[in-house]
Order: sequence, then structure tokens, then C-alpha cells
Amino acid sequence: MRFIGTLLLCFLALGTPVLAQGRTRNVVLIVTDGLRWQEVFRGAERALISAKPGGVRDTTLMLRRYWRDDIAARRQALLPFFWSTIATRGVLLGSQDQGNTASITNTMKFSYPGYNEIFTGAFDPAINSNDYPPNPNVTVFEWLARKNAYKGKVAGIATWDAFRRIFNKGRAGMDVIDGWDTPFPGATSPRQVTINDFYRTTVQLWENNAFDAPMHLVTKEYIATRKPRVLFVGYGETDEWAHAGAYDMVLQSANRVDGFIKDLWDTMQSMPEYKDNTTFIITTDHGRGDGAEEWKNHGEKVVGAEHIWMAILGPDTPALGEVKEGDRSTQSQIAATIAALLGEDYNRDAPKAGAPLRGFIGGKAR
Ligand SMILES: [Zn+2]
Repeated sequence: MRFIGTLLLCFLALGTPVLAQGRTRNVVLIVTDGLRWQEVFRGAERALISAKPGGVRDTTLMLRRYWRDDIAARRQALLPFFWSTIATRGVLLGSQDQGNTASITNTMKFSYPGYNEIFTGAFDPAINSNDYPPNPNVTVFEWLARKNAYKGKVAGIATWDAFRRIFNKGRAGMDVIDGWDTPFPGATSPRQVTINDFYRTTVQLWENNAFDAPMHLVTKEYIATRKPRVLFVGYGETDEWAHAGAYDMVLQSANRVDGFIKDLWDTMQSMPEYKDNTTFIITTDHGRGDGAEEWKNHGEKVVGAEHIWMAILGPDTPALGEVKEGDRSTQSQIAATIAALLGEDYNRDAPKAGAPLRGFIGGKAR
């Protein structure tokens, strides 16, 4: 009785239930920059498979690859892993055609504010530029990396070279591999030397953003050799090609990212460290506009760029598939969701952060 009384007291004092941990021991957060919910839930957009306004060079080829009259077949053609595996075994949030919405809470609608919201759980109006200096806020990654259980087991790998600042690499106590920097300095293994060579010799189309495919190889090699428990993977091409007005490349890079996610999932499920105890959260940092011009853009003045999508797949996630109707979920809930999956209460130390997405990761709906 005394024990139960103490428990009850703890419960009342904290004001929130003690977090019951499920089967998740590892979390991978995957973000593909600026991929719209429209492409995720509707597949390729017919009007944009065009020389104008889509900037598509070979419309016949793109129609053959990605256009289907039926919406279910169309999105399956673009994102086969999403619509075969995640849609049947996990959760997809943000399907506005079904009355479900996922949104950002920051008003900026561009990347640094978005990643800050994802990683810290809160909008910080002071962060108003992608060139903003190292993040003064503590991300959930740093918060976990400071705990003994996660020391040396938290990492971020991405194409965009801003992540060293967004994670505050100098302070955070975690590995951050980003941009065109040599991924494995001092490497001696043939595989790592080859990856380094590729980074060193590739023509840099974007000076601050590496290509997704080699970064994906870095990620797989890092997982195989370092076995992180909390990992961020940031793909960048879906945003870059949209800004360039090349819808064929947007489609191709979205399709590639779907394949990369499947590859990460299959690879990790084949490793005893990760099998059946690893949850993937997949999302984007911002949406984009709609129509002939605004599909390329995002930012404070772009209507609709506040809407995103989220996908969750893992041993604690119910197989709800494409969620219809229900509450609006927000980008600010992701940080606490990552922690909650690991049985940790992020909101206790970060009271401004959004609450975990309870109904989608096991436990009670919030
Ligand atoms: Zn952008």
C-alpha cells in the first residue's frame, strides 16, 4: 500500500503518466526536404508532367514511369515502399483528401526553422534564416546524447551542410556528417575510402548540398560500423529539384528516397541489433505551394507550405495506414515522440515542446 501510495504521489506530482516503454530501442528519423503531401498521397501531378510549368524534359518517359489514372496505382508507382509496407503496417498522417492534416507550427515555412521545430519540439521565432548560427536550443538528439545510455549512439547524417549548426555539433556530443565534407576522415577500410573518394571527386551541383545517393551509402556504412540507437537521416534533393523547377527530377528523387528508406528498413531488420525493435519516423521540414508557379516555392508568404505529412513504422506503431479525419498533428510533436518511443519524457525538460503522438506509437491517444 505504501508503495502504491508513493507511485500515486509520483503520478500526481509529475502531472503526466509514467511513460511505459514498448518494444522500440532504436529510432531513425528520416526527413526528405520539402516533399509535398500532394505527391505522397496523390502521386505525380498530371499538370506538372509537362515542359511548362513542370520543366519536364521527357514527358513520355515520366508519364510511363509515374502516371496512372487511378490514384492508388499512381502513388504506388511513385512511392512503392510507402504504399505497400508503411500503408499496411504503419501510419501515414497528413492526407488532406481524407480530412487529416499535419502541419508545422512555425510561421517561416523554410528549412532551419522547420528542422529546429522537428528537433526541439517548438517554434523559435529568433531562428529566421537558413544562415542562422549554431542552434542555441537543445535538440532531443543532444538531450538524449547527454544520457549515459545513449552516449556515442546518437548521430545525424545529411546532404545539407547546415545540420552542423542546426544540431550545434560543437556542443551536442553527437556525430554530425553533412554537406560535402569527407564522411570518414582517416578511413582505411576500402569501402570507406571509396565513399570518401566519391565525395572528394564528384562535381558539386549544389555547393552546400551533397547528392542523396552517396549520402545514403554513408548512412548504411555508419549504421553497419557504429550501430547508432538514435539516428537522423536528411535527404535534400526533393527540395533542390523543386526550386530548380524540374518536376521530373522531383519525381525521380522522391522515388529514390522511397527506395533508400526501404533499403534502410531491410538492412536494419537484417541486423540483430535492430530487428523488431527499431521505429522509423519519416517526414518533411515544410510543404510547398500549389499551382503552376508555387509548387516550386515555400516560405512565409506561400499559401499551403505549412502543411506536411508524417509516416511512422515500427513495433509499437498500430497498423492504421492512411489516417482519415482525426486531430491535426504537428511537426512540434516529433521530438517528444522520438523520446517517448524510447521511454523518455522529453516534455519534462522541454515544456514548450509538443506532446508525443501517443495514438500512433502505442499508449493512450493525446
Ligand atoms: Zn527549400
